[in-house]
Amino acid sequence: MFKLTSLVLVSLLVGCTPEPSASASHHTEDTTHVFSETNPNAPLPTSAREQLQRALAALAAAGDGADTEQTRELAKQTLARITDGDVLIGSIEGARGIDRWHMCKDFGLGACDGPPTEDPDWLGDDELANTLADGLDGYMWGNRLYFASAATMETEMLAATLVHEVNHVANRSECSYYADILSHEVDDTHAYIEEFRAFLAECFYIEDDGANIDSCAQLAAEHVGEYGFFPDIGSVLASGNDDPVELTRLMVESHELGELVPVASLWQGDFDTCPE
Ligand SMILES: [Zn+2]
Repeated sequence: MFKLTSLVLVSLLVGCTPEPSASASHHTEDTTHVFSETNPNAPLPTSAREQLQRALAALAAAGDGADTEQTRELAKQTLARITDGDVLIGSIEGARGIDRWHMCKDFGLGACDGPPTEDPDWLGDDELANTLADGLDGYMWGNRLYFASAATMETEMLAATLVHEVNHVANRSECSYYADILSHEVDDTHAYIEEFRAFLAECFYIEDDGANIDSCAQLAAEHVGEYGFFPDIGSVLASGNDDPVELTRLMVESHELGELVPVASLWQGDFDTCPE
């Protein structure tokens, strides 16, 4: 659903990531990728567009040049969902109305007490703006994806954030994240599963041929641990144990508990209501 700002992820993953080859980055350097904005009336500022284009170019390069099929597919399909308009893009700073209200609810701030806003221009207060600026790298609701354009996020980090958030959209994470979607009362086990899967996708994307079930299970568990959930993972695993590796196998090998790669066939129905 959302991705907290995390310096740990950068330090853990960048060290294992080979530099993109000169030919791969040169190949896409001049390409401008089309994308659809969450709010065409308030387009992304130039700096944010350029930041996004660099990340899309990184996805295109990985889609062509990554070592493993898994990484190429994650990159290619993430990029395709964005360039096909299956996912709409905006900045966290520029988010207004109900999507910003949902961000506010996830942080439990006073600005969004009461029922969901019906004001498309809803902005909240300074506390919310500061919290979002400090606390979020990415966010999604429905098929709308928001990234932290004001932050100095490295290109590969933004590309990984896009992989994370598009994975959430593909799996309609907001529909199972909450015990009560109106009050944002989190279902800790389901929310854990949604975040765990999104971090797995990120891990396989970034680490490429350095990724495996064990290393990505460990990494995903570490990052979801920062969310403060109290899940009962054993309740969804055959062993009944709280085992991140078993959870990872279920997602990666058995394609149970959702999908890692955001293929087009997952985009069915509308995004205004949750599937039954
Ligand atoms: Zn997330």
